Amino acid sequence: MEIIFFTIIGLAVGSFLNVVILRIPKNQSISFPASHCPKCKSKLKFYHNIPIISWILLGGKCAYCKEKISLQYPLVEFTTAMIFIITFFKSETLLQAGILSALFSALFALSMIDLKHKAVPDVISFPALFISFFARDFLSSFSDALLFAGGFTLLRMIVSWIIKKEAMGEADIIIAAIIGATLGVNLGLSAIYLGALIAIPAFLIVGKRGFHLPFIPFLTLGLFITWVFDKQILALLDKIYG
Ligand SMILES: [Zn+2]
Repeated sequence: MEIIFFTIIGLAVGSFLNVVILRIPKNQSISFPASHCPKCKSKLKFYHNIPIISWILLGGKCAYCKEKISLQYPLVEFTTAMIFIITFFKSETLLQAGILSALFSALFALSMIDLKHKAVPDVISFPALFISFFARDFLSSFSDALLFAGGFTLLRMIVSWIIKKEAMGEADIIIAAIIGATLGVNLGLSAIYLGALIAIPAFLIVGKRGFHLPFIPFLTLGLFITWVFDKQILALLDKIYG
């Protein structure tokens, strides 16, 4: 029963994230006005707003003016529900599942905003950092967050000095702190390494065309994959350094 409940919450949160991704970068309120078609401005009825299902039933078009509705909406809802389901099965307690689902959802929203707008709003990143302090026991999470923030700041100063221009954003430091808080030192470093590893081919493909690729989505992916496969990754690290 709990998993059905969790999936429904995941879909609802996904629906909310669509609003966040759309409105926060434009500094608009997330509660007002109510959901409406961006083209004809018609207010949506509740049954136009059921995650994934409404999009399919309406054939991906506005119920009033038939304007196409972006595939991004059902995809964000689906991905958020998947984050909730995977986190539910991986977590040891319902409380942990709740905390980490909230954290991963916030990071997913940040990733989408970073991809679309090259911006990382503080109104999302700071609450996410706060939530991450409760990912493990508070003292370990808090001290590892400080350690990773400090390490990343130092790294940023050194790299910026070498390449003679500003390297990495301040937001990357917050995400690094979140990774430290959630995973601890060993797994945290693996997550950043994994994120960089996934980013390299993407940078090589897209970077060539002069497109600036944001780093937050890759750090988030590294964090999530490492959190899900923590035991396998620890065993691998043990084999390498063991
Ligand atoms: Zn419309």
